[in-house]
Amino acid sequence: MNKEKLLIIGAGISGLYTAYLLQEHYDIRIVEARERVGGRILTVQGHDLGPSWVWGHQKHILGLISSLGLELVEQYTQGDSLYDSPEGVQRFNPPASAPSERIKGGLREVVNALEMRLKAPVLLETVVLRMLQKEQGIVVETDKGVFEAAYVVSTLPPRLAVQSIAYVPDLPEPVQTQFQNIPTWMGYASKCVIEFDEAFWRKEGLSGFAFSHLGPLGEIHDACTEERAALFGFLHSQAKRENIEAEIKAQLLRLYGEKAAKPKNMYLLDWTKEKYTSTRLDALPLRAHPHYGFDVTHFDGKLIFSGTESAFQEGGYLEGALEAAKRIEAELLV
Ligand SMILES: Cc1cc2nc3c(=O)[nH]c(=O)nc-3n(C[C@H](O)[C@H](O)[C@H](O)COP(=O)(O)OP(=O)(O)OC[C@H]3O[C@@H](n4cnc5c(N)ncnc54)[C@H](O)[C@@H]3O)c2cc1C
Repeated sequence: MNKEKLLIIGAGISGLYTAYLLQEHYDIRIVEARERVGGRILTVQGHDLGPSWVWGHQKHILGLISSLGLELVEQYTQGDSLYDSPEGVQRFNPPASAPSERIKGGLREVVNALEMRLKAPVLLETVVLRMLQKEQGIVVETDKGVFEAAYVVSTLPPRLAVQSIAYVPDLPEPVQTQFQNIPTWMGYASKCVIEFDEAFWRKEGLSGFAFSHLGPLGEIHDACTEERAALFGFLHSQAKRENIEAEIKAQLLRLYGEKAAKPKNMYLLDWTKEKYTSTRLDALPLRAHPHYGFDVTHFDGKLIFSGTESAFQEGGYLEGALEAAKRIEAELLV
């Protein structure tokens, strides 16, 4: 029997997992604007420049990691923390927080393992520009050609879905407004990984964790991999971007002393500049985690909007991206 065609827009973890769940039932293609899969997941030299943590209550992502045969590593938190204050650096013993874990080899391992199990082709560097509802299905126009499908699942962050793609007929006004008001989770973030010859902070009884109102890094954590000693930090929302590497080195010297003066390597990714993640509105830092979750379809239910921001539970997180995929599976397997 001929399977119906399903086109998935976006090869982030939500799009890849949706394809994985539905591949026995639909004839699937995935189109991806970037030259790589993973979306907000990006691992360089084993370091995650996008997401890195999962938590014990997140059953979808933990289940997936285990079913793909991947290993978790506990986030290193042993020892004291540092507070980078205007009065000087203060050392303190932090209260316990929910333990987090990272994936051995980085989250790229999850993406690679999922991709290896996919039958569906992923068409990279293919940017969706316009979608049109036709009698026989949906026509999807990209910069590389035109596709037709019975169903389309968009995993784009909602602001991008409304700002970068045209719809014929257009999305209803209330949906356009709703999507414009949904921030892209971590779209404002800049993450920096700093490698050293050794994890000297551990030897000094420090966990590597520091927080700062002075910046440029607002919070810092241990990011050692099996092969490399490293710290990672998120840029403070008020941090100036000029001369940023020198500023980060000066902050590390202030916090951790001479041993931090000469990092081996520094990797910095400013997600506000990633046009397939963030919109202009997303550059504004968020005060709190937004209340995510929506159930929106268009073209008589044949175009379904998904992705992590659509998840009612754990929206914004990797867990939410998988929960969104599970919801699509339930909707398209009725
Ligand atoms: C710095 C940072 C740190 C984070 N830390 C954590 C963490 O520790 N734990 C956690 O759980 N979550 C974290 N997150 C959030 C996590 O990354 C997301 O929840 C998850 O990756 C979202 O997956 P997704 O597939 O829904 O969306 P995305 O990964 O954004 O996928 C959408 C895809 O659509 C593609 N696309 C965009 N426009 C088009 C177009 N016009 N045509 C075709 N394709 C298009 C994009 O290139 C992208 O691949 C972090 C995010 C960032 C940026």
